[in-house]
Amino acid sequence: AKPIIAIVGRPNVGKSTIFNRIIGDRLAIVEDKAGSTRDRLYGSSEWSGKAFNIIDTGGIEINSDDDILRSVRMQAELAIDEADVIIFMVDVKAGITPADLEVSQILFRARKPVILAVNKVDNMQLQEDTYEFYGLGFGEPIAISGSHAIGIGDLLEAAVNSF
Ligand code: GDP
Ligand code: MG
Repeated sequence: AKPIIAIVGRPNVGKSTIFNRIIGDRLAIVEDKAGSTRDRLYGSSEWSGKAFNIIDTGGIEINSDDDILRSVRMQAELAIDEADVIIFMVDVKAGITPADLEVSQILFRARKPVILAVNKVDNMQLQEDTYEFYGLGFGEPIAISGSHAIGIGDLLEAAVNSF
């Protein structure tokens, strides 16, 4: 089976934007579990000659504060179960939020590689704001911009190199 990359992060950091950029029009499966709402999307793609499946764990996201914490916990647990590599996404414009810390706590327990992606780094000025995310404890953050298509190659390179 192909290795699986999961994208995890609180609502609105840009997970789906990146997911769509990575898979283009190659969406393979939209999982609709009976009795639950659609909670994740599966796609497939390849980078540097390495094929992979990728999960957008935030298929539905509810935006009340309680539900955000519940939903990010579920996403992180799911990623730990299913993925070979986890992309943990945060938002440079928001800084580190309580929900980011919640995700971090869970991902620390994962015996899987975690790649920290700082999204919405739309220009060079925002680049220096990525340093605070070292504080999350997942090593060097990779600066990306989903809407400007910046850094996605670097992100995928890091992901496929950890298979
Ligand atoms: P998700 O909830 O994590 O899946 O986030 P979405 O992909 O739905 O994006 C949430 C919002 O952030 C949308 O309004 C996007 O247009 C916006 N967004 C996504 N990527 C970027 C980016 O790189 N820069 C900026 N400025 N906005 C972005
Ligand atoms: Mg989404």
